[in-house]
Amino acid sequence: MSKQIQEWGDKYNPFNEDNNFKVYGVIHKFSDTWSPKKSFKKCYGNYYTTCYISSSAKIGLCCDLRGNPDMELCSIYDYNNVDLGWGSAKHKAIVDRINIEQCPRCTLTHINEIFENVILQDKMMCDFF
Ligand code: SF4
Repeated sequence: MSKQIQEWGDKYNPFNEDNNFKVYGVIHKFSDTWSPKKSFKKCYGNYYTTCYISSSAKIGLCCDLRGNPDMELCSIYDYNNVDLGWGSAKHKAIVDRINIEQCPRCTLTHINEIFENVILQDKMMCDFF
């Protein structure tokens, strides 16, 4: 798919790209049919990446599910409470409840793929070295 998109970009170049100006598309979240790519079994990215802070001062775990109260960890004012913060039992419970089939396109697709393939399945044979 990326080759096809590159060809379209080269052919139509709607933004008049040159050596000083380029447009990069985000395609890693999509399958060949532009549906959300589900190339992993579980969400791990919510342990290893960033979070967002909403306008109501809530720490949300997933930018693609922003606004969903089920994905909110706590208020930034409660963050130092070890029962509520990053790595807490609440954090783990939220991640355990995630059903990736209900997720929209996932910004952290590559993180989840790498974790499953490299860490869990050891496809890079880390133990070999
Ligand atoms: S969209 Fe779903 S799988 Fe992707 S990071 Fe968010 S919760 Fe995890």
